[in-house]
Amino acid sequence: MLKLNETHDPVLSSWVESANQAGTDFPLQNLPFAVFRVRISDEQFRAGVAIGDEVLDLARLAELRAFDSDINELLQLCAGSSLNAFMARGAEASSALRLALSRALRADSGMQEQLQGCLVAQELVEYTLPCRIGDYTDFYASINHATNVGKLFRPDNPLLPNYKWVPIGYHGRASSIVVSGQDIHRPLGQTRAPDAESPDFSPCQRLDYETEVGIYIGAGNALGERIAIDDADAHVFGYCVFNDWSARDIQAWEYQPLGPFLSKSFASTVSPWIVTNEALLPYRVEWTRAAEDPQPLDYLESEQNRSHGALDLKLQAYLHTAKMRADGDPPHLLGESNFAQSYWTTAQMVAHHTVNGCNLQPGDFFGSGTQSGSSADELGSMLEITQGGKQELELTNGERREFLQDGDCIILSAYCETPGAARIGFGSASATILPVK
Ligand code: MN
Repeated sequence: MLKLNETHDPVLSSWVESANQAGTDFPLQNLPFAVFRVRISDEQFRAGVAIGDEVLDLARLAELRAFDSDINELLQLCAGSSLNAFMARGAEASSALRLALSRALRADSGMQEQLQGCLVAQELVEYTLPCRIGDYTDFYASINHATNVGKLFRPDNPLLPNYKWVPIGYHGRASSIVVSGQDIHRPLGQTRAPDAESPDFSPCQRLDYETEVGIYIGAGNALGERIAIDDADAHVFGYCVFNDWSARDIQAWEYQPLGPFLSKSFASTVSPWIVTNEALLPYRVEWTRAAEDPQPLDYLESEQNRSHGALDLKLQAYLHTAKMRADGDPPHLLGESNFAQSYWTTAQMVAHHTVNGCNLQPGDFFGSGTQSGSSADELGSMLEITQGGKQELELTNGERREFLQDGDCIILSAYCETPGAARIGFGSASATILPVK
């Protein structure tokens, strides 16, 4: 089981000076993983760990053989262009490498001279997906989001009766998950105006973002085996911030009876870095279920989940329009929410996903569902902010939006901050909407 340890000590500092600066997303206590190479080069992609403004090149580090054989073997698994083999080794392996890297990067490690040559400036690199994502499952775990969306369609009965019993999810599309920085073309599709007899085939008119938490699976389970709720941590490799783009007009016409399809599968954007489950331990918080609500069935219930199953992860969504960028204006803050308000925890999602014997595999990915809070400045989609396009949003520079326009850039970011621990950040997931191709 994961435990707080010396790697979480907020007092630790690094010989990489930029890691010690207040407000950095990547202090020594974070050590997230990505797959990168120097931009516009023919280098091989390989894994790296963020430290301050730098990437520690794990392929280069593996060549140095600077550690004992167990750690060197783990570094070898990170030398290729995807992290699946390393993720498959499970929480213990990832914890062992984290400890070794934490010790090596500490101010007093004595390894600066040896490791200095393994650093690459983040501003020089480009990223690709950190692993091969075999399957992508999209949950719907924010009750505020589910209620807000439900109200638009069923004002008197916003939540369907299963919501408070079942962590609702559907199977998404893994092939179109892309990394931050890759721009997204507006999709074409069938839409139908409310009173029209037949649909139009046209560019999506109601293009939207969704503020979500992304969850990567590490060690999998065999087909036919369940993962018990208290074993979930051993199977969760880490987290990212995730924009699950949505074509609301295409969705409205296609989603019955089998759920969303082309309205969701055109693109989803992940941030490059996977913040490990272990790095996030200091920010785990109590999970509660209102006394008047149904309490979870046994397989979704545990002491451990109650005492620290939730994650105090603060999420922000920004819109940077083409005009704002041209004028040198900062982005408009669309909403801030917190994964701690999620109706279901990650452990409940893992337990539910596998309760029928479904096998998860290393590199599988969950979306948490759009995370919205209960107030107007905590919403995670345009659909909610503009009430389905009925109330135009006025941006800080006076521009107005119902949904997203070509040239709009959505930037999602996230961080954890709590007394007694370092602040750690996720970097960002950003992408710009391009016209229909
Ligand atoms: Mn989604």
